[in-house]
Amino acid sequence: MLQLPDLPLSGNALRWLQRWQTEIDALPDYAARVTEAQRAWKSKNRSANKTFVAVKKTLTEMQGRLRRCAYCEDSCATEIEHVRPKSLYPEHVFDWNNFLYACGGCNGGKLNSFRVYVTGTLSWADIQRTKKAPVLPPLVGDSVLIDPRHENPLDFLRLDLYSFQFDPLADAGTREYERAEYTINTLSLWREPLRDTRENAACGFLDKLQGYIKAKAANDPPHEIDNRRIQILRSPHQTVWREMQRQYRSSPKLTASFVAAPEALTW
Ligand SMILES: [Zn+2]
Repeated sequence: MLQLPDLPLSGNALRWLQRWQTEIDALPDYAARVTEAQRAWKSKNRSANKTFVAVKKTLTEMQGRLRRCAYCEDSCATEIEHVRPKSLYPEHVFDWNNFLYACGGCNGGKLNSFRVYVTGTLSWADIQRTKKAPVLPPLVGDSVLIDPRHENPLDFLRLDLYSFQFDPLADAGTREYERAEYTINTLSLWREPLRDTRENAACGFLDKLQGYIKAKAANDPPHEIDNRRIQILRSPHQTVWREMQRQYRSSPKLTASFVAAPEALTW
């Protein structure tokens, strides 16, 4: 999981989102805002709606041409995900900063639940609402889930290049550790197919890097050499590549490759 680039949404689309959000925020009752947020989202988020055409175009640019899920980077994602669920936070239903593309496998564990560090306390609370529960505003607080729109997941997570699973980067007992652990489990980032696809991605990245080194040694034309760099940057599972850069001293093969092509450490 990588931090998404901060690309601007077109002014027109942003104005429409703000207008729809203002209409919901103007309703005096929280329960009414929840109902209206769900209804308005369904009615506006349609393929012919120009605002959502612009939203999806910008999210696609943000998440690379392959339009992979922002959380697991594995599956193609076609549905807009609300980082703060719209059923709990109607004030963020049309909030551009609350959108990203995610896949069903990641969203399945999250759905309509959210965990926050309750403002003014040292503890967290799970925000959930069962079907029959009264519709009341949730406790206020900062997100426990790592939000790749606004923070760098690799400040919290480390991908082990042997097990190809994520672990918290910080020491146990810290808030950073807690946030990493919650994110890994809520999004099921440990689910079986992901381990294999990350390992395959790592093999592919190493092959491509070694191809680049050979092309350079053989004095191939510059555009052919550069194509090999571009192939690396266009392949899925970019987190694997970033971790290979960050942990290149962890294996002799990686060390030898990056010593032969130190410029690849900054790609
Ligand atoms: Zn996913």
